[in-house]
Amino acid sequence: MRDVARGWRADGSSIGLVPTMGALHAGHMSLVEAARLENDRVVVSVFVNPIQFGPGEDLARYPRSPERDLSMLTAAGVDAVYKPSVADMYPPGTSTRVIVHRVADPLEGAARPGHFEGVATVVTKLFAATSADLAYFGQKDAQQVAVVRRLVSDLDLGVGIRVCPTVREDDGLALSSRNAYLSPAERQAAVCLSRALGEAAKAYGGGERNPDRLRAILREAIESEPLAQLEYAEVVDPTTFSTPGSLAVLAVRIGKTRLIDNHDLTLPYPG
Ligand code: AMP
Repeated sequence: MRDVARGWRADGSSIGLVPTMGALHAGHMSLVEAARLENDRVVVSVFVNPIQFGPGEDLARYPRSPERDLSMLTAAGVDAVYKPSVADMYPPGTSTRVIVHRVADPLEGAARPGHFEGVATVVTKLFAATSADLAYFGQKDAQQVAVVRRLVSDLDLGVGIRVCPTVREDDGLALSSRNAYLSPAERQAAVCLSRALGEAAKAYGGGERNPDRLRAILREAIESEPLAQLEYAEVVDPTTFSTPGSLAVLAVRIGKTRLIDNHDLTLPYPG
């Protein structure tokens, strides 16, 4: 990948990178579309990064659809698909990890120890391998965005970060590769995340600013769904992920499946 990217650079081409773990859906493809509009060359990386999964997590059963991914990316006209193996990324002797403090500590960082260390490490390596000028991330993973922005700023990586809006199903459920785990009943129950965010946005729009009240609105909407178990509901600052703030963030278990979602309460809720 590095040599291809260097060739592009030598030609004066700008390079956009879309990092993914595959099992592509319309959310990923919206990042690809955004990248195509702004760059001469677009690289999509497909790598299920083992070091961002904790011991009890779903690495082994994470959905994989390599042929479908490739045909979607070919149809979308990307210039390269970068699919390193685990051995390419982490050969024996690998000893370096990138650790982002503070913004990576609460919420997803607390629930998934080591997750953001894995993300920061792989993103740093992907930026280096692809010589990206711009990299595209989804608002769906809002804390990941905040961690990557911090990383790029702190390590002077010189990569522009673009954030694309969350793509949702018609009923509001955010698209996610993990939605494939949901049974039909769980799929129906999963709408409680977007419903909760919508209710919090409505209250915020009506003038509610009390963080306890906003948290309670989120919590009650999740608790009213019998198949859902709330992991956290917070309203945080979108840059630091400390409280107080105006970004509502949720992590919810529906059966065995862990889903996250978020919404900037200063914006009207779509739908
Ligand atoms: P993943 O393959 O889950 O690691 O996701 C790769 C990128 O796609 C990340 O930047 C995600 O935030 C983004 N993404 C995932 N789901 C969505 C969605 N529903 N809308 C927009 N972007 C998304």
